[in-house]
Amino acid sequence: MANYTKILMAVDLSEDSDMVAERALAIAKNNDAQLHVIHVIEPLSFAYGGDIPMDFSGIQDEIHQQAVQQLQKFAEKHGLNTDCRHVVLGQPEVEIHALAEEQGADLIVVGSHGRYGLALLMGSTANGVLHGATCDVLAVRVGR
Ligand code: AMP
Repeated sequence: MANYTKILMAVDLSEDSDMVAERALAIAKNNDAQLHVIHVIEPLSFAYGGDIPMDFSGIQDEIHQQAVQQLQKFAEKHGLNTDCRHVVLGQPEVEIHALAEEQGADLIVVGSHGRYGLALLMGSTANGVLHGATCDVLAVRVGR
């Protein structure tokens, strides 16, 4: 079986992200692959756009800056290069797929909470990433 050469891990920067990183780092090491990390910020206008007539750009910039700093800390902790860190604005599934294709990733690593009941019906980011991905997807069980 061919080795993975470029891996993209997606993190929401919650405490579960360390588990996702540990698994992704181990696979990257075993395959001698390059590891990229993405964190997606959802635009405030997605949530409040039509309902509240407000300019969100200042708050959005602030959230972006904080996310960049948080991802920097996270990446330094796990030894990831500056050019392998990506903070993107949009919908997580869409942006994860887009970056994976742009980078030519052959594996995407995400966390999965193993939902059941109503939460399962409503779907998850891991499900969304799996459907429509053009490469392998590994869902690391988190939150146990
Ligand atoms: P969720 O379905 O929201 O519980 O998220 C499960 C996994 O999806 C997380 O562990 C991450 O791997 C990924 N994920 C969720 N939200 C984001 C985000 N905003 N940016 C990047 N990855 C995310």
